[in-house]
Amino acid sequence: MSTKSFPLTLEELRRIADEYGTPFHIYDEQGIHDGVKRLQNAFAWNKNFFEYFAVKATPNPWIMDSLKSINVGADCSSLAELALSEAVGLSGDEIVFSSNETSDQEFIKACELGAIVNLDDKSLISDLRRLDLHPDKVCFRYNPGPDLAFGNDFIGKPQEAKYGMTKEQLMKGVAWARDEGIKYIGIHTMVISAELELTGLLGTISMMFDLANEVRERTGVTVSFIDFGGGIGIPYRPDQNGVNIEALGEGAHELFNQKMQGFENTRISFECGRYITGPHGWLVTRAIHHKKIYRNYIGVDACMADLMRPGMYGAYHHITIAGKENQPEDFVYDVVGCLCENNDKFAIQRHLPEIERGDLIIIHDTGAHGHSMGFNYNGRLRHQELFIRTDGTIQKIRRNETLADLFATLDYPGLKKE
Ligand SMILES: *Cc1c(COP(=O)(O)O)cnc(C)c1O
Repeated sequence: MSTKSFPLTLEELRRIADEYGTPFHIYDEQGIHDGVKRLQNAFAWNKNFFEYFAVKATPNPWIMDSLKSINVGADCSSLAELALSEAVGLSGDEIVFSSNETSDQEFIKACELGAIVNLDDKSLISDLRRLDLHPDKVCFRYNPGPDLAFGNDFIGKPQEAKYGMTKEQLMKGVAWARDEGIKYIGIHTMVISAELELTGLLGTISMMFDLANEVRERTGVTVSFIDFGGGIGIPYRPDQNGVNIEALGEGAHELFNQKMQGFENTRISFECGRYITGPHGWLVTRAIHHKKIYRNYIGVDACMADLMRPGMYGAYHHITIAGKENQPEDFVYDVVGCLCENNDKFAIQRHLPEIERGDLIIIHDTGAHGHSMGFNYNGRLRHQELFIRTDGTIQKIRRNETLADLFATLDYPGLKKE
């Protein structure tokens, strides 16, 4: 029998499901805070350590606001994410703007907010010039290409990725920023994703420390900021272990002591999304049909519009049936949504306890890239988000979409919007 944590009792869950209806995403503020504090403590040896929350994971201002209250900023890559950051009162070096194929509008907004502008390519320097924008904090995104000393299956090979610049381009970028008189210059990378092993995480840190030294040798610039990107994985499967964050912090500290004399004032950062909210969110849905043909199907009231990862990446999300956590998993089901797409399956040939119509099904670890990846294909509406505050109160932080929302961009006589 496989268990995974869930912050509500069966009675509480049933009450919430009755009050708000299903399906819903629900997030646990205390869990989010505990995870953040663990990371902050592990890196407290760097007096300027700062975590930027990758907003794309869960772009909800209530969650960003809660994170801001414990000293977490925002990693943005679009105008909407910048607007959310602005709304919660983030500005200056609390925001990293890491876009690619950046629009003028996005650059203008990022500079207006005083964000650290993380440049993905040297051509973006001419865009800044053309727009007469003069960010006072710039950063350069490194793509090590085939030089990467370690691999990460989830994100793939850097030389096949569209992001970042080569080392030679980065050196030229830093020299340009220095000549412009920009005082705050950083380096950034994102070469791993969903990584559970320390090798890849410490490998990234070591690579960036080496790069910082090479930047100093070749340009005379001591970078103010080193951003390791996101990529700290979470154990989606109950038999996996999470990253040993304390060991990561200690390992990074050792590398710093070995390699980084003279960088004591440099801020080091992660911009994690998945680690921050992933394990602290659940998609709760109800079994509405049972269909038996060549396989046994459980139809639920959520669909791929609420959670794309299984359909898109074949990602595993653990499933438990509320109140049946201790029952034998004697049944084999495909748990499916309503899209006209056969990959709209939350679980395939999964061993579970017997599911009856009306059972509440808890899909685990949906706090990052869950609601946010949702789409409206098939005219499906995305569902509400609830937030369990640290004092135990439940706050609805996003309502269900309506047909009026879906049709808001259509102007056609006779189209009923409710
Ligand atoms: C997606 C992304 C992140 C966050 O990645 P996680 O795996 O959620 O930690 C951070 N930085 C950039 C540039 C990203 O694209």
